[in-house]
Amino acid sequence: MPDLKKIIALLKKHYGEPVLPPARGPFELVLWENACYLLSDERRAAVFEGLRREGGLTAEAIWQAPQEILLPLATMGGMRPETRVFRWREIARITLQQFGGNLDSILQEPYAKAKRALQQFPNIGQPGAEKILMFCGLSAGLPLEWNGSRVLQRIGYARAQKNYGAMYRALQEAVCDQIPRGAAPLSRAHLLLRQHGKTLCRNSRPLCEECPLAALCAFAAKHV
Ligand code: SF4
Repeated sequence: MPDLKKIIALLKKHYGEPVLPPARGPFELVLWENACYLLSDERRAAVFEGLRREGGLTAEAIWQAPQEILLPLATMGGMRPETRVFRWREIARITLQQFGGNLDSILQEPYAKAKRALQQFPNIGQPGAEKILMFCGLSAGLPLEWNGSRVLQRIGYARAQKNYGAMYRALQEAVCDQIPRGAAPLSRAHLLLRQHGKTLCRNSRPLCEECPLAALCAFAAKHV
């Protein structure tokens, strides 16, 4: 089995210390996840900062913001902007109706309950809820998005499967004894694996010749 600690150390040496998203707290992080669709982090940040500047990043502000403010920002965020505006309003509505406008309150709840609360929001599945809690300082594992999952699968933590859910569970089982303790090192691992999957270990034609993990990687051993 590969050594996750070594993998993360090599990635940190290669990419440097990863930067956390500018969103702070669960409400902002849910909005961050819904800021755009299939676009760069830079575009996501532009939409997010536009919301902060034009309306304000509170449930009340998003709920009250007129369509003329929200729609141009949602258009910057990619396809189907009307759906995006609808989701932003849903995020605000759920936060106002169920959490009195303060989604930070879930951070005082048991982890499982906080996770269930987040999974009510648009586009937040189980790994997304775990990631948001991790960025808020609460951790119970290493959530992975699909770039990070691909990196660990290629290295050899799980066999490739058409069923992403089954592969994700296999990866989680394989890494559970090796993950670092604490939200900060887990966030670092998550972000570095994501960055690697978006750049060198990209989906098609990974750049194994340039990869700092090549000596540890099952895919490189077979294909390079
Ligand atoms: S050696 Fe290639 S497949 Fe393996 S982690 Fe690096 S880029 Fe990905």
